[in-house]
Amino acid sequence: MTATFRPIAGPAPRPGILDVAPYVGGESKAAGVDRVIRLASNESALGPSPRAVAAYQARAQEIHRYPDGGSTELREALARHHGLDAERIVCGSGSDELIALLVRAYVGPGDEVVYSRHGFLMYPIAARAAGAVPIAAAEKNLTTDVDALLAAVGKTTKVVFLANPNNPTGTYISAEEVARLHAGLPPSVLLVIDAAYAEFVSRNDYEPGIARVDAALANGAGNVVMLRTFSKIYALGGMRLGWAYCSPVVADVLNRVRSPFNVNAAAQAAGVAALADVASVDRAREHNDIWLPWFTRELTMLGLAVNPSVGNFVLVRFPDVDAVFAHLQSRGILTRKMGSYRLPEWLRITIGTEDEMRQVIGVLREFLAR
Ligand code: PMP
Repeated sequence: MTATFRPIAGPAPRPGILDVAPYVGGESKAAGVDRVIRLASNESALGPSPRAVAAYQARAQEIHRYPDGGSTELREALARHHGLDAERIVCGSGSDELIALLVRAYVGPGDEVVYSRHGFLMYPIAARAAGAVPIAAAEKNLTTDVDALLAAVGKTTKVVFLANPNNPTGTYISAEEVARLHAGLPPSVLLVIDAAYAEFVSRNDYEPGIARVDAALANGAGNVVMLRTFSKIYALGGMRLGWAYCSPVVADVLNRVRSPFNVNAAAQAAGVAALADVASVDRAREHNDIWLPWFTRELTMLGLAVNPSVGNFVLVRFPDVDAVFAHLQSRGILTRKMGSYRLPEWLRITIGTEDEMRQVIGVLREFLAR
C-alpha cells in the first residue's frame, strides 16, 4: 500500500528516514477465500509448543505487572540450553529489534553498513533509518561472497551483517568462510551473524555463530554478535522474541540503548517453556528435513528452477511471477514476491504442512499445464 501525503508544514525527520522503504510483511489474507494457506512469512509448519501456549496463557492474570526488564529467567534458560554465559545474552522484541538497536548504538549519519546483495531487508532499512549508507556486496550463485563483502568494507564501515543461512535465498556459508570474513575485518567493525534459521541446518560445516563470538573474544576482539529468534523453528513469531549473544562490552551497550521493558512478560514465559520442549523443536526439524527436499524435488520435476535451501523456505523461479503469484493467491495460497530483494523473477515459498505442500504442487502443476 502506498500512502499519498499532502505537503504540510511541520517537523522534518532526520535525513535518511524518508529514504526508508517500509518493510512489507507477508500477506495473511486472500480476498474471497475463507481458508488460506500461509506460506509467505517463513512461519512454522507445525505451530508452537503447547507448553509455550500454556505459559503464555498463564500470564493473563498478571498483565498489570511489568515484566522482568532483564529477561533474567529466559537468559538463564538460554544459557543452560546452549552452554553460554547469561550475562552475554541480551533479549529483544524479535531479532528485528536487536538489528535496529545494534545500528542505533554503532552506526551514525554518513557511516556505512555492509550486507550482501540479497540479504535480509531489515539491514538496509535499519541503516537508512540511522542516516547511514547501506552497501550491498555482490553474491555468487545467490550465496554470500566473503571476498565481495570484504571488498565492500571501507573506512566508514561500522557494521557488516551476515544472515547465515540467508533469507530469502536459503543459502549458507561454512564456519570456515565466516571465520575468513571475520579475520578480514578490522576489530573496529562489528560482524553481526544473524542465524534466524540455524536450527533447521544440519550440515557438518555449518556453525551458527557461537564459536565465532567466542573465538573473537579469545583473541581480544569483542566484535562479533550472533542473533537468534524464537519466530522460526520455535514458532513464536507473534510473541516477538529474539536474542543476541555477544561480548560483555556489546551486551553492556545493548542494555544501555534498549528500552527498560523491551520484552513483554508473556513472551519471556513462552520462550522459557518453548526451550524446554525439545521434542517439539525436534518434530519441527524432522518435518522440514522431509518436506523441504520433497518440495524441492517436486518443483524440479515440474521443470522449475529451485535455489537449494537449508532453511524452512525455498526460492522458485518463474517466467511470470505475477501470474503464478495471483493464481496461487486465488486458491488461497499466499507466497512472497521478491522484487524488494532484487529477485523479481523468484517467488519465496515457506515449507508448510504435508497437506499444504501437496496442494501447492497440485495447483502449480495445473497452472503450468494451462
Ligand atoms: N533475520 C532474518 C534472516 C529473518 O528472516 C527474520 C524474519 N523474517 C528476522 C531476522 C526477524 O525475525 P524476528 O524479528 O521475528 O525475530
